[in-house]
Amino acid sequence: VPDRVRRALSRPVIDHRGPEFSTLALDVLSGLKRLLGTAQPVAIYPSSGTGAWEAALANTLVPGETVLLCRNGHFATLWGALAERYGLRVERLEGDWRRPPDPDEVEKILRLDDAGAIKAVLLIHNETSTGVTADVCAVRRAVDAARHGALLLVDVISSLGSTWCEHDGWGADVTIGASQKGLMLPPGIGVNVIGPRALERSRAIRCRSGYWAWEAYVEANATGFFPYTPATSLLFGLQEALAMLREEGLDNVFDRHWRHASATRRAVEAWGLEVFCEDEAAFSPSLTAVLVPGTPGADELRRAALEQLNMPLGVGFGEFADRIFRIGHLGDLNDLMLCGVLAGVELSLARSGMAFNRGGVQAALDHLSHWSTVGSVARPSKQSAANSAAPKSPVQRE
Ligand code: PLP
Repeated sequence: VPDRVRRALSRPVIDHRGPEFSTLALDVLSGLKRLLGTAQPVAIYPSSGTGAWEAALANTLVPGETVLLCRNGHFATLWGALAERYGLRVERLEGDWRRPPDPDEVEKILRLDDAGAIKAVLLIHNETSTGVTADVCAVRRAVDAARHGALLLVDVISSLGSTWCEHDGWGADVTIGASQKGLMLPPGIGVNVIGPRALERSRAIRCRSGYWAWEAYVEANATGFFPYTPATSLLFGLQEALAMLREEGLDNVFDRHWRHASATRRAVEAWGLEVFCEDEAAFSPSLTAVLVPGTPGADELRRAALEQLNMPLGVGFGEFADRIFRIGHLGDLNDLMLCGVLAGVELSLARSGMAFNRGGVQAALDHLSHWSTVGSVARPSKQSAANSAAPKSPVQRE
């Protein structure tokens, strides 16, 4: 959380029914829409990302209905568990955690669903547990190619602010974000972008939640207000964070993330360790998960980094507990800070007794120093699902 944002967070709280608030809210809403690539309404909840997941489900689905979950990691697993608690039937498309969800499999499952039982496809754009990104446009095209009416719900919690998130261009129906990652804020804000089909569905099912209901948000937001007490201090912080992203320029912000992601991968390769993501087209801009060979496991390395350097590295989940560690390179980070992190990992590798090759930091330095000549190659760009031969408007079966 950068100093500028922390100072904004400490501003005196204002009356959330007064004119000053409406100026703040309208500014924040339009900034978020730009960042999320949308002209659609955006709801900002005083919640974590899990709340924003629940909001998306509560507005579009009723207990007993079926969703198709692309399960390629720990956070997808949690979202599925949440959906089940909410009373939904969850059909899981089990994927290889080292690769992105397979759009052809999504299409196959939807084609078999003649009765239109599946009401939504749940997809994580950047699976934070693995450092693998999904091709959202390809999944959109798969839904369209199957001529299926399922809504597409996309989680951008750990990609928002770190790469292009294009709700409208992707053809997503709901896009779900949170404050505590690329937005450089503390936890406490959850976001839903509400596409027209999703809003229509929310109205049709008469969303029973009072807290998450979009309709009240859309109505109040139009004049810069919220249906209930907002997290005003976090909105000050969000306004400042959006201003910082705007000043740097999104192209530059995303280029910086990509530079750091690719430099980190160079370091991992030089250490003789494995980048967990096996698909080059799916490398994450915001974190890199690293597979370690055996004993000592990843947790020994993480312990050394935390206890000796006060540097927390991300944990491995599920069957990859103790087998991977994760390096975050998102948000308010510059080249020097990244090199500090990589030096900390190299030092901890040595101290933990793990077998590795020295020279990872040097490889990252070499990469960073040549970035201006290699940087334009293969970096992610804005994507649109509309460049497809597949039918553009899905057939409604409801
Ligand atoms: N989705 C993704 C991709 C996440 O990384 C996280 C948390 O890290 C969540 C959802 C859950 O969000 P929260 O922990 O803020 O409730």
